[in-house]
Amino acid sequence: MILPIVAYGDPVLKKKAKDITKDYANFDTLLENMFETMYNAYGVGLAAPQIGLPIRMFLVDTTPFAEDEDLSKEEQENLNGFKRVFINAKIVEEEGDEWAFNEGCLSIPDVREDVFRKPIITIEFLDENFKAQKETFDGLRARVIQHEYDHIEGILFTDKLSSLKKRLIKGRLTNISKGKINIDYRMRFPAQKKKR
Ligand SMILES: [Zn+2]
Repeated sequence: MILPIVAYGDPVLKKKAKDITKDYANFDTLLENMFETMYNAYGVGLAAPQIGLPIRMFLVDTTPFAEDEDLSKEEQENLNGFKRVFINAKIVEEEGDEWAFNEGCLSIPDVREDVFRKPIITIEFLDENFKAQKETFDGLRARVIQHEYDHIEGILFTDKLSSLKKRLIKGRLTNISKGKINIDYRMRFPAQKKKR
């Protein structure tokens, strides 16, 4: 089932999410629905707060990025088929010199801005079988994970922009929260909640 994606301005996107346990109600259905919702919106990542659940869970599938011919062969191979579920994740290390990448977000349609992040991360998490994992990622895999990880910390990529950039996009963000945008996937807008 495709779930509505929560738009910018909803308080759930600003909340630090909580850990879950193996017996989380209807976990398998939730996982299936989140993947379906992400693919339907052509996203490469989706975090639970984006479907209104303040829990520490997100998924990524970077396969669409693998077709970018500007990337090295090695990076394309890393991205192709990189599909993962991260539960109760904790980034334990971030290394290297920050680099800029033009990020977007399913909760903030049509807004794209350069965001600076470190290139290498080490992350501890539970996989979809609630088995503990610890892995190191770099390049765009790290980038997508960092973006989704921020969601479970209650942080949006727009929070990381300069105050000038923030001022420049303020009007567009207000429009998104009111639903004044054209999108081709299901969304839920905070400023419209009361309406039917
Ligand atoms: Zn996002």
